[in-house]
Amino acid sequence: MTSPDEKARLKALTTAFQMPSFQTMVSRKSSVTNAAVNSLIPAVTPTPDQIEKALAILGMEVTDVRCTYCGDPSTEWDHLRPLVINRRPTGFISEIANLVPACGKCNQSKGNKPWREWIMNPSANRSPTGRGLPNVPERVARLETYEEWLSPTHVDFEAILGREAWEHYWSLCEAIIAEMRECQHVADRLHKEIAAKLNGEKRA
Ligand SMILES: [Zn+2]
Repeated sequence: MTSPDEKARLKALTTAFQMPSFQTMVSRKSSVTNAAVNSLIPAVTPTPDQIEKALAILGMEVTDVRCTYCGDPSTEWDHLRPLVINRRPTGFISEIANLVPACGKCNQSKGNKPWREWIMNPSANRSPTGRGLPNVPERVARLETYEEWLSPTHVDFEAILGREAWEHYWSLCEAIIAEMRECQHVADRLHKEIAAKLNGEKRA
């Protein structure tokens, strides 16, 4: 039997270590889609007046910008409505009507989910509701006011570019993803071969 002290020691030690997270070819697929969409859409820099108005609606000081979702110090501006869903552009762009200050934790946890659904989700462990934060209804109300303030640009890519050019662009993107998938299959096989070789050397 392991003593409670020993259990605590083991737990502390395993918590102290963290394996670096690694990317695979497959986990890079969404980065390819995001890059393909980001390369197309305009990024509109807001005027100082718009920034002032945005912060006022969100109840923030210019010198103390906070995450709209959780209230922690803000590290970035997050797309309120996602740019990509199901590997296709939604038509929304990078402009202040579609951006709010956020912290990295919330931004990552929210991902491409609709903001309201994510905020209210008690089982998303990093959502404001999942974290048990106070004032969630107040935060939701501020975001609703924010959405009413400016109507967001919505780009109809196919209407602007024509069907042929649009489909061609996405077929290029799909071809890259297919190559990545193929590369991952090969990597998986090689990974096993390397691990088997290393294990064999250890035993010998
Ligand atoms: Zn946050």
